[in-house]
Amino acid sequence: MSRPQQITVLGSTGSIGLSTLDVIARHPERYQAYALSGFTRLSELLALCVRHTPRFAVVPEAGAARSLQDDLRAAGLSTRVLVGEEGLCQVAADPEVDAVMAAIVGAAGLRPTLAAVEAGKKILLANKEALVMSGALFMQAVRKSGSVLLPIDSEHNAIFQCMPVDFARGLSSVGVRRILLTASGGPFRQTPMAELAHVSPEQACAHPNWSMGRKISVDSASMMNKGLELIEACWLFDAKPSQVEVVIHPQSVIHSLVDYIDGSVLAQLGNPDMRTPIANALAWPERIDSGVPPLDLFAIARLDFQAPDEERFPCLRLARLAAEAGNSAPAMLNAANEVAVAAFLDGRVRYPEIASIIEETLNLEPVVAVDDLEAVFTADAKARLLAEQWLSRHGR
Ligand code: NAD
Ligand code: MG
Repeated sequence: MSRPQQITVLGSTGSIGLSTLDVIARHPERYQAYALSGFTRLSELLALCVRHTPRFAVVPEAGAARSLQDDLRAAGLSTRVLVGEEGLCQVAADPEVDAVMAAIVGAAGLRPTLAAVEAGKKILLANKEALVMSGALFMQAVRKSGSVLLPIDSEHNAIFQCMPVDFARGLSSVGVRRILLTASGGPFRQTPMAELAHVSPEQACAHPNWSMGRKISVDSASMMNKGLELIEACWLFDAKPSQVEVVIHPQSVIHSLVDYIDGSVLAQLGNPDMRTPIANALAWPERIDSGVPPLDLFAIARLDFQAPDEERFPCLRLARLAAEAGNSAPAMLNAANEVAVAAFLDGRVRYPEIASIIEETLNLEPVVAVDDLEAVFTADAKARLLAEQWLSRHGR
C-alpha cells in the first residue's frame, strides 16, 4: 500500500484548520498531518499534535516554541517545533509534503502560501487574502511551478466543480457566460440601516449559516468577504470583474453557479459545512466521505435570491472598484480592511466606519503597478499606515 499523503496545515488551530484535521482523521490510510501551525491558543496546538502526531509544529516565537517543545517531549512525542514565518515557509516547501492547506487568516499567510506554490505543492487555498493581495504574481508562480491550485472557499470550490475541466483555456472559449457568486447576506441583511452604527462585534460574528473565524465573520457581515471573493474568482478562473455577479441567497445551500451561453446554469449544493469543499479538494479528482450529513431538500423547502444593495453593503462596491483598478488596489483594500476589522473587533470603531476607513485609504493613495512581492508588501504597508492614521485622527 502507498504511504499516506503528507499534509501541512497552516493555521491548524483555526476554523478551517480544525475542519481539515477532522476530514484527515477520517481517512488515516490516505492522509497524515505532516506539520501543524498555530499563532495563539497554543495549548490547543499541543492537543492537536497529541492527536495527529505531526513531524513538525510551528509557533510564532522562540519562547512559545521552547515551552511547546517541552510539553511535546513530556507527552512522548518526537514532533519538532519550528519558529515564525521561516518555519511556516519551511513546512510549506518541505520535499516530504504532498499538499498544503493554506488556512492562515489575512496577509500573514501570503509568504508561506507562496513558498508552497514555488515548491510545486498541491495547494488547498482557504487564505483568500493571499490571492487578493498578489493575484498576478501568485498565478504566475502557480503556472511556473506547475502547482495544482484547488479552491477551498465554498463558493470557489462550487464554481470549480461546475466548470469544465479545460476552463484554463478561457471562459469564453469554454462557453461560460458568467459566474454567479452566492452570498448569504450575513447577519445584517435586514437590520434597519440606522441600527448598523450600534451593532456589536458579537452580533457581527453571529453568522446565520456558517461558523467561522472572527475576521471572516465580520467580512461576511460587511460583505467585504464577497468583495474579496469576487477578486479571488477573477484570478482563479481568469474572469473579468464584469463576468462575476453577486447573488444574495440567504439559505447558503447553493454555494455558487456557472452560467453557460447555451442557457445551462450549473450549481453546486450542499449543507453549509466547510468539510465538503475541504474533502473535495483533498481527494480531487476522487471523492471521499467528509462527515457532512446528506442535504435534506424537504427540510430546506425553499431557496431565495435577491440582488445585493450596495448602499447597505458599501464594502462590496469598494471591492468591485479595487477589482477593476487592479495593480496595487486589491492589496490596499485588503490591508485597510484588516486594520479596520481588527479595530472594530477591539471596540475602537463602529461597524459603518469599517467602510469609511477603507474608502478614505483607497482615495488617498494612487494605484501603482505591483511587479514583485516587495511592491505588494509596500502597498500593504502604506494602506495599513493610512488606516492607522484614520484611527488616530478620529481619536481611536
Ligand atoms: P481563524 O481565525 O479561525 O483561524 C486562523 C488561523 O490562522 C489560526 O490557526 C491562527 O492561529 C492562524 N493565524 C492568525 N494570525 C496569524 C499570523 N499572523 N501568523 C500565522 N498564523 C496566524 O480563521 P478561519 O475562519 O479558519 O479562516 C482562515 C482562512 O480561511 C481565512 O483566510 C478565511 O478567509 C478563509 N476561509 C474561511 C472559511 C471558514 O468557513 N472559516 C471559509 C472560506 C475561507
Ligand atoms: Mg466563501
